[in-house]
Amino acid sequence: MTTINNERNSKRREKGSLGIYVHLPFCAKKCRYCDFLSFPNDDHEAHAYYANQLIMELVGKSVVYGNDFTVNTIFFGGGTPSLVDPSIIDEIADAVYSRFRVADDAEVSLEVNPGTADENKLAAYRNAGVTRLSIGAQSFDSDTLKFLGRIHTERDTLRTFALARDVGFENVNIDLIFGMPDETPETWKRDIETAVAMEPEHISFYSLQIEEGTPLFGDMERGRFETLSDIDDRRMYHAAIETLEGAGYVHYEISNAAKPGFASRHNLKYWSMEDYLGVGLGAHSYAGGRRFANTDVWNDYMGACDHDMMTTWSHKNSRGEDISEYVFLGLRKTEGIDLEQFRRHFGKDFWEIYNEETRMLMERGLLEHSDGILRLTRLGLDLSNRVFSEYV
Ligand code: SF4
Repeated sequence: MTTINNERNSKRREKGSLGIYVHLPFCAKKCRYCDFLSFPNDDHEAHAYYANQLIMELVGKSVVYGNDFTVNTIFFGGGTPSLVDPSIIDEIADAVYSRFRVADDAEVSLEVNPGTADENKLAAYRNAGVTRLSIGAQSFDSDTLKFLGRIHTERDTLRTFALARDVGFENVNIDLIFGMPDETPETWKRDIETAVAMEPEHISFYSLQIEEGTPLFGDMERGRFETLSDIDDRRMYHAAIETLEGAGYVHYEISNAAKPGFASRHNLKYWSMEDYLGVGLGAHSYAGGRRFANTDVWNDYMGACDHDMMTTWSHKNSRGEDISEYVFLGLRKTEGIDLEQFRRHFGKDFWEIYNEETRMLMERGLLEHSDGILRLTRLGLDLSNRVFSEYV
């Protein structure tokens, strides 16, 4: 570590808390289902060149936001951050610590693709101040990994996890995907049980989405496979929740479960409408009641002379938009929305605004209300998009 967290902190005035998302769009190879802003590039010089521009952006944003916020989460996402040399991660982290006030107990997460990280790399990330790893296992079934176009095997994932523990990571997430066309309840059960047996602090479990424009979508259109039925998909989802809860995980968000005290503090910001800044190609931000996003065009991003030039759109939320986002994002959390907190936050009674739609959703068994808390029911978890559409 070039400098430890405390040393990196400069004395700044504390106000609200802030998350920083750092987008690293490089991957070893594009996965067949992926529609994220990422592309194959393992050239260290290109990574360093990009990091320079990203640091210039961070410096610019620190002038606007550095004095008003304390950063308490940093998230290196992508893309495949673990493809990038740890010295680059260290440089970016240094830029955050030297330009922003950073909380001593900040959560610093980094996404790892099991095919790209060895012991030295993981140790170096830890020395750079990373406190939490998110390992993209996706599955422990070799046919599924091949179907998804992942570059790693089940063994790579187990090894990466063991190495992460060896070098001292005590907060690790395992990412899983379910609902593959040929997946059976048994193979999914094996996946989730394998993940649980590893005893990570956090497990994410997402249903496969086949997005237009991906190779997988093309194969589906050509009739090369049939998608899983919704009923089987939901059965797998509920089986996962049951297994995870049985193993002591708290199912705290639609697709996320964690051991008590290990919920992702960074991701909770998105669902709680807290401030975050996104830096890097195509990164999105929400700060000071404004949503804004960087260009996702490489040449425009790399050619920008300051952080303002990177911004392609910016929108000041109206009060109504803030209220609507607070509700549909908040309902993603299984703890639901505290309606008294809502009233304090917006100075308005929830029922005055949303009486009709909320009563209708409750009658249909999608929402439940008790002790001033509104939350999704089990059926509501399955049909969450239907619920959210009422509040948009
Ligand atoms: S590693 Fe992640 S970001 Fe990269 S192509 Fe695969 S799914 Fe997309």
